[in-house]
Amino acid sequence: MSEPMLSVEQALELVLREFHPLEPEEVPILEALDRVLAEDITAGVDIPPHANSSMDGYAVRAEDTAGASLETPARLLVIGGVPAGYVSEKEVSPGTTICITTGAPIPPGADAIVKVEDTEAKGEWVNVLAEVEPGHYVRPAGEDVRRGELVLRRGTLIRPPEIGMLAALGQKRVPVTRRPRVAILATGDEVVEIDAPPAPGKIRNANSYSNAAQVIKYGGEPVLLGIARDRVGELTEKIRAGLAQGVDLLLTSGGVSMGDFDLVKKVLAAEGEINFWRVRMKPGKPLAFGRIGDVPVLGLPGNPVSAMVSFEIFVRPVILKMLGVTERERPTIEATLMDEVKHKDERRHYLRVRAEERAGEYRAHLTGGQGSGILSSMVKANGLAIIPEDWTHAPAGARVQVLLLD
Ligand code: AMP
Ligand code: MG
Repeated sequence: MSEPMLSVEQALELVLREFHPLEPEEVPILEALDRVLAEDITAGVDIPPHANSSMDGYAVRAEDTAGASLETPARLLVIGGVPAGYVSEKEVSPGTTICITTGAPIPPGADAIVKVEDTEAKGEWVNVLAEVEPGHYVRPAGEDVRRGELVLRRGTLIRPPEIGMLAALGQKRVPVTRRPRVAILATGDEVVEIDAPPAPGKIRNANSYSNAAQVIKYGGEPVLLGIARDRVGELTEKIRAGLAQGVDLLLTSGGVSMGDFDLVKKVLAAEGEINFWRVRMKPGKPLAFGRIGDVPVLGLPGNPVSAMVSFEIFVRPVILKMLGVTERERPTIEATLMDEVKHKDERRHYLRVRAEERAGEYRAHLTGGQGSGILSSMVKANGLAIIPEDWTHAPAGARVQVLLLD
């Protein structure tokens, strides 16, 4: 089998074009947290709905306060009060005022608020000790959101502020994109379940769990298919059983290495239309991609770090695309590489680093061995520093881009 060599961008483009946003579903407002908005939300009302006071104080006609000061107060007759939640039936006529609390609608006739600190109550009267302009401490109707305005765009990740806005707009149920269901199959005779007693020659299944956690983190729903031993029958059966569960993507790990006559490759190729690529990246060179029936399949490499990094580079964007997320760029910083990396090959290296800020500058420290089986250096990392394809080595002090993982 000869496998084409692709850049990360080429491979990602070929993968991404096979995915489309999934259909919407409605959920109660609080369940919309961390989901993706599936429709544009337009305001049906002004927020706030009515002009209201932003202070506790007195609603006045601004002209009645002209020249008012500590020494020369303006004396106004208090004709009533309006607390938040109520509407004043009385009108502020010249020489009068209405006592008001924060959030209460501005009474008719009034055009400004004098805050309580600038007043002195005198029985039925109040002394106003400061002059105010029209509009002072008045929050106009629609100051926050105007009726008919497009407030939240489809494709937005819903955070607590969006939840607050949806509540303000009366959106008790929220249209969000359905979560993609991602089936995950581990492969290998040596791989055993995590509660299996350690046996000679065996290792525990790390990948299914790290990948499942990544699926959850990026908004999908993992469907764990367990482990298939390297047997045609068992691989075929587990893949078919997995696809029968109605999934949007199948991930496998292991058995796709270059020049490998691993059965995983044979079985994937026999079950569907799968391409086997070499991607110019490290870790994670081998990658299988295609479909079985109408389900896209991504075959990730088996080494625990490769499986995770390949997921970050290829599966994260796919999940976000299925969710309809418009902002798929990963937060990235520029940092100074603090440790030298020698003898680099012509692949793009993703180094496990800890990026730390010091006086406004980021420094990226390698977190340990960069072998694709060294999961502990992934554990310590908060980012992946990119060493471009055309660098032969990366000296300490080099400026690098770091993809932030957290
Ligand atoms: P493979 O690509 O199948 O040759 O696997 C490459 C390396 O990754 C081997 O050392 C495997 O034992 C290891 N490996 C494969 N699958 C898993 C897994 N699910 N969890 C942990 N390590 C794995
Ligand atoms: Mg294997």
